[in-house]
Amino acid sequence: MELIVARNRADLVKSRGEGRVALVPTMGALHEGHRALMREAKALASRVVVSIFVNPLQFGPAEDFSRYPRTLEADLDACREEGVAVVFTPSAAEMYPPDRQVSVASGRMGAIVEGAVRPGHFDGVLTVVLKLFNLVQPDVAVFGQKDAQQLALIRRMVSDLDLPIEIAGVPTVREDDGLALSSRNRYLSPADRRTALALSRALFAGALESTPSRIRAAALAELQGADLALDYLVLVDPATFTEVGESHQGEAILAVAAKVGTTRLIDNAVLRLS
Ligand code: AMP
Repeated sequence: MELIVARNRADLVKSRGEGRVALVPTMGALHEGHRALMREAKALASRVVVSIFVNPLQFGPAEDFSRYPRTLEADLDACREEGVAVVFTPSAAEMYPPDRQVSVASGRMGAIVEGAVRPGHFDGVLTVVLKLFNLVQPDVAVFGQKDAQQLALIRRMVSDLDLPIEIAGVPTVREDDGLALSSRNRYLSPADRRTALALSRALFAGALESTPSRIRAAALAELQGADLALDYLVLVDPATFTEVGESHQGEAILAVAAKVGTTRLIDNAVLRLS
């Protein structure tokens, strides 16, 4: 099956076929984490559509939109290898007419944790994801647990706005030494790359403990002394992203974000407290 590359709405409409459709939204610079999403999508549907779009709406003015890696030819090869049917790679002009007015508001849950550091980020994410849902009309869409708050907000959007789409989450894919794969890892110098391991070390140390205060303390101990600028380390409820109390039982997400050199990294682990 030949990969169809759709660059605009008309191409996308022409590319429609029979059977269940799974959508994998990405910003490109594809790595093994994205490939894990594509494989899950293949298991869930007969046709996989991957979108590749560096969404200007989700970047703040001081963020890395212009230097975000763009590697389309290699990305298309990866999609061919994974048996993807269609890559949708629109331009910003195709997605956002200049007179655009209406967008999705991510609410209180979009303004805490990652949203507190990146104001407007989740409004931009939800707006582009809703547009992609409407354009591609998938039966199921696949997202990574790596962006845990994003995944939680997309589930909220589907439920709050009654979107007729299933959401599937895929566990974070890591390097052998623990570093979570990210398109931004390529910015890390060898020294930054070693420093960055403090994030996953912190999560693994937290995961060995059993109460919220001990989890936070163990994780923080791994971050102290590392040459990074910590944005947050939080233990939150997976559905609401509010901090869990000391008596919390069940799942919790230990989430961390830090700047290592000039590169901002996020990571998280899903823990079970009993
Ligand atoms: P991005 O291209 O960074 O916007 O990511 C596109 C999708 O891939 C999102 O659903 C991410 O959560 C997911 N993703 C990114 N990195 C990983 C990873 N290391 N493991 C699993 N999923 C990932």
